Amino acid sequence: MTGPTAPQARTTTLDLIGNTPLVLLKGPSEAAGCEIWGKCEFANPGASVKDRAALSIIRDAEARGELKPGGTVVEGTAGNTGIGIALVANACGYKTIIVMPDNQSKEKMDTLRALGAELVTVPPTKFANPGHFVHTSRRLAEETEGAVWANQFDNIANRKAHIDGTAPEIWQQLEGRVDGFTCAAGTGGTIAGVGLGLKAFDENIRIALTDPHGAALYNYYACGELSAEGSSVAEGIGQGRITANLDGAPIDTQFRISDEEGLYWVGRMLREEGLCLGLSSGINVAGAVALGRQLAAEGRKAPRVATILCDTGFRYLSTLYNAEWLRAKGLPVFDWLVQD
Ligand code: PMP
Repeated sequence: MTGPTAPQARTTTLDLIGNTPLVLLKGPSEAAGCEIWGKCEFANPGASVKDRAALSIIRDAEARGELKPGGTVVEGTAGNTGIGIALVANACGYKTIIVMPDNQSKEKMDTLRALGAELVTVPPTKFANPGHFVHTSRRLAEETEGAVWANQFDNIANRKAHIDGTAPEIWQQLEGRVDGFTCAAGTGGTIAGVGLGLKAFDENIRIALTDPHGAALYNYYACGELSAEGSSVAEGIGQGRITANLDGAPIDTQFRISDEEGLYWVGRMLREEGLCLGLSSGINVAGAVALGRQLAAEGRKAPRVATILCDTGFRYLSTLYNAEWLRAKGLPVFDWLVQD
């Protein structure tokens, strides 16, 4: 009798991080005329791709002897990394202090508090401002006894999680036939790590950056200039500088995707495929469709493109899935949210 293979039994909860399923996305595949595969990172225990970076950063700090039993992990984060760090820290007996800008979703803040993290919120500012959440978290780590600063933007233990984990998983799941990969960048750990990891298997795999509006990387990879146009409400993505994680990322091409396009795919994923996702996932799917069309137009036979489904939409019930919030942002409202 043949049936689905059950996932391997695990002996520690931390082993539940990674080894996420990969799923063929029907609507995007039809739209692109190729296979579009989504890596289900919402299936991690913290419901986002950032569990991988959190585990890798904490293991690296332990290996370097910086993080000792009973210690504290401090980080500045839009939310998902904090959730991942809080869960991993709980499992390892560490305390967590998280600094985040106060314009992030209420669900993320409530989740961090529920997980037992100490939460510090600061007003959103430019990176150059010393009050920026990243600088605030570094200072807090310096001032706290027995604390380490996770430093997800410039700590390359972040992208290592994707070089060693996400990339070989995708390669194996697609049985060694991958034509392209794309995703957006927050820290850049995912795009750089998966890009480097996949290129090590086959350097012809096309790696595309999918950038939201308001981020500077599209122009950087297109014409060497860090400059941004427009804005985006997507959380967790949109970078204005070359972080250490992005340094040397093998980006072959780039797409710029609007929030409207991202939301279009968020809506279709929900209604047609039964997946409730965040906006960065929708933007990634739009980028994957663009990359798939590009590869198909070049005559590649049935190209296969993989992308990241970064986090669960349940984290955005008060924003992306709220008609009033969407209206206030000038964004289209999903028709099933409109009450007569
Ligand atoms: N999507 C979401 C929802 C995120 O929280 C993040 C992490 N900031 C990303 C995408 C981008 O991942 P990375 O930091 O690896 O670039």
